Amino acid sequence: MTNRAVFLPYRPKTILNSHKRPDHWFWSRYSAYPYTGCQHGCKFCYSREVKYAHAVDPQDFDTTIKVKEKAADLLRRALVRKPVDILCTGDYQPAEREFGITRQMLEVCRELRFPVFMLSRSPLILRDLDLLRDINAAAPSVAAFSIISTPESPHHAIARCMENLAPPVETRFAAMREIADAGILTGICFMPILPGVCDDKANLEAVVRATAENGGRFVLAGGLTLADQQKEFFFNFLEENYPDLVPRYRTWYPPGSYDAVSYPWNRIALRIRELCEKYGIRDRMPRPVIPGDKLAVNKRIAELLADKAYELEIRGEPNHYVWAYRKAAWAVEDLETDIRLVYSALGVKGIRSIPDMGEQPGRDVEKMLSGLM
Ligand code: SF4
Repeated sequence: MTNRAVFLPYRPKTILNSHKRPDHWFWSRYSAYPYTGCQHGCKFCYSREVKYAHAVDPQDFDTTIKVKEKAADLLRRALVRKPVDILCTGDYQPAEREFGITRQMLEVCRELRFPVFMLSRSPLILRDLDLLRDINAAAPSVAAFSIISTPESPHHAIARCMENLAPPVETRFAAMREIADAGILTGICFMPILPGVCDDKANLEAVVRATAENGGRFVLAGGLTLADQQKEFFFNFLEENYPDLVPRYRTWYPPGSYDAVSYPWNRIALRIRELCEKYGIRDRMPRPVIPGDKLAVNKRIAELLADKAYELEIRGEPNHYVWAYRKAAWAVEDLETDIRLVYSALGVKGIRSIPDMGEQPGRDVEKMLSGLM
């Protein structure tokens, strides 16, 4: 099912966003997308926020699709000058069947041996499995799926209504199986776990179990965020379709809030962690290792520090403690020298002299290094 869409081709000046550091979820350093607007039109989609959809009426988000012409050429020109790192890309909304720009962009990644992270709500990604295999052979890549509910959830009908233009969740799990069988790292983004809709015990367990059963290796959990015009759009949707939910959502998302307040998010995240342990997968995405990366050990240490920051966060530890590890992860990420050289030349003093390296994270880095050296 799709809404009737208007396609507006245009030529952007650039297509590649380069980030100062990789994020701690998907480990991507770059991002580049072929379209703006999305025909899947999920009611909770943060891309309707002003910061992503400036001058776009949120009502038009799923029916007015801007199509980036010459996207592959722009991407090639940008990537040849960049150090190889993970590119977050791809978009498998229905427009892709007609325009094929995601495929052209993947061809560039294959040519330049850039690893990719792709997140999809559609099994259309399987059309490009040949390219994903080739890319993965040169630079480990990841193809993940957005999934928030399974038919086992008592509220599945509500969750489906909120993403009714996206293909059924069963087809996404089936696609995940094929991707996993092709030897490509896959898993899910369980985002947003909609309060009161997706957070019941049955759904949390069914989503994690189905991920593991279909070859997924991670479940990344995240909450709903609501800002500016998207918040208004979402509440209008609730009022029209699920008025019973409105009072609770008004409590969780009072005026001025972005994340849910007075909602036990930590408990949900810890439950996801327990379920992942039960089914033998992880609640963090393993960081892909880029072949020939001279700073691979730094990246591994940064990953371990970021994992620790996440653990402290979901355990409800004080913010300053969480931030100490987050900053330490960034500090190691920013090092231009192999951290093993720093440690072997200067010992613990060398580790402590890294800017933004706190005392406790520094001690942990020493332990991590002794496990890796
Ligand atoms: S598929 Fe993703 S980008 Fe598209 S509307 Fe849904 S949440 Fe937004």
